Amino acid sequence: MNLTYLIEAIYLLASVLFILGLKGLSHPDTARRGMIQAACGMGAAIVGTLFRPEVLHGNYLFIIIGLVLGSAIGIPMARVPMTAMPQRTALSHAFGALAASLVGIAEYTIQQPTHASVEITALGLEVMLGSLTVTGSLIAAAKLQELMRGTPIMFKGQQILNLLLFVSMLTCFVLWLTHPTVTPYFYGMAGCAFAFGIMLVIPIGAADMPVVMSLLNSYAGLSSAATGFVLHNNVLIIAGTLDGFSGFILSILMCRAMNRSITNVLFGGFGATVGTDTGATGTMREVTLDDVAVQLAYANQVVFVPVYGMATSQAQHSSRELGNLLEERGVSVKYAIHPVAGRMPGHMNVLLAEANVPYSSLYEMEQINPEMPQTDVAVVVGANDVVNPDARDNPKSPIAGMPIIEVDKAKSVIVLKRGKGKGFSGLENPLFFKPVTGMLYGDAKSTLTNLAQAVQKV
Ligand code: NAP
Repeated sequence: MNLTYLIEAIYLLASVLFILGLKGLSHPDTARRGMIQAACGMGAAIVGTLFRPEVLHGNYLFIIIGLVLGSAIGIPMARVPMTAMPQRTALSHAFGALAASLVGIAEYTIQQPTHASVEITALGLEVMLGSLTVTGSLIAAAKLQELMRGTPIMFKGQQILNLLLFVSMLTCFVLWLTHPTVTPYFYGMAGCAFAFGIMLVIPIGAADMPVVMSLLNSYAGLSSAATGFVLHNNVLIIAGTLDGFSGFILSILMCRAMNRSITNVLFGGFGATVGTDTGATGTMREVTLDDVAVQLAYANQVVFVPVYGMATSQAQHSSRELGNLLEERGVSVKYAIHPVAGRMPGHMNVLLAEANVPYSSLYEMEQINPEMPQTDVAVVVGANDVVNPDARDNPKSPIAGMPIIEVDKAKSVIVLKRGKGKGFSGLENPLFFKPVTGMLYGDAKSTLTNLAQAVQKV
């Protein structure tokens, strides 16, 4: 068979696997299979590329060095705890975008174009989007890892500087398109894009970083699609476009789950409100382990609300064990999942799947909220913002309008927390002061383990 046809057939297979993988990722039941399909697609795309004539006739040594180096960095990176996954993902975006930018710069040097064309336009877009994604993603990773301040970094004249950088970047791009031989225009555009990536992300608060990352992921995808046009590589065009648009849709879905617009996330608002106190005061009622064990053991329905604290304390197995014990006693046990619980979409689904909690026990926010008034005990495992009734009741709250899991409508609410720490948004939560709420302090994992022992004694 002609080698070109073989490569295109492998690329077609890779593209189909990418599409099936994305489809699989849209539901927890099929997510694992989707990941495997997408990984096989990537494997096929790499194999296909190794057969390309320019690679076959080149030197495999550099590819082997790249594979060894990439694996040496990638394997330890994949082993980070789930709570550090957002910053790890941000680093992956930075690497992907850096690769796209470097390929673009290399192609420019090799091709030495003399006049504008569709390919040259794509090359410019690739370097521009890639460069701003590199620095933007690195800043996002640094903020999430707390290597730099998570709160918005703002200074006088910032917006004017941002506008100047943006206009300069576009001007260099247009000038370079009309005079592709003038290299300072090209490198000027790349330099402005690098600086613009930094300036775009520093004024955004860490709480909004998952949305920003998903948006940067979308830029990295579009940059890869542009690389595909430059290299005449169909699988890059398809994979980049899928990545670009799925990242954009995910950003919109996350914003919707927080009742905010993309422009509000990017250009102000939420992050800037970190530390604002909405005025909730009173006394928090502390409850004992034995009291809670009795409540749980004699309940008809218990809803666990697993949130960020479950992830930090790795309490998913203890939640499941306690849930099993209650079910054995005839209690109906459900798990309520808020769309932005934790630090990334699907965070809780992944953890509960790891603990073998059946998908049929997981309930989306819209499904569980109507059941709250009939729920005897809602057990909030390390949450704050996503159960904050101020979002529903106080139009002046910075998180007003963000949909919440309405645990305050349950007959009893037990909040597992280590202390009086605030949530990611930095706001006080009036739920903790309500008469219906009992606070059970301690690390979520050990509290749940102790609760399971106490329930056995009831
Ligand atoms: P949160 O508001 O950050 O609250 C987590 C709570 O967990 C804290 O108040 C903390 O209180 C407690 N905690 C931490 N470690 C614990 C441990 N080991 N044991 C027990 N409790 C522990 O989390 P959330 O309610 O999940 O809200 C998510 C936030 O992230 C929202 O503001 C959301 O908008 C934002 N966000 C999420 C996504 C996403 O995709 N998931 C995207 C964008 C934004 P103590 O310190 O007192 O223990």
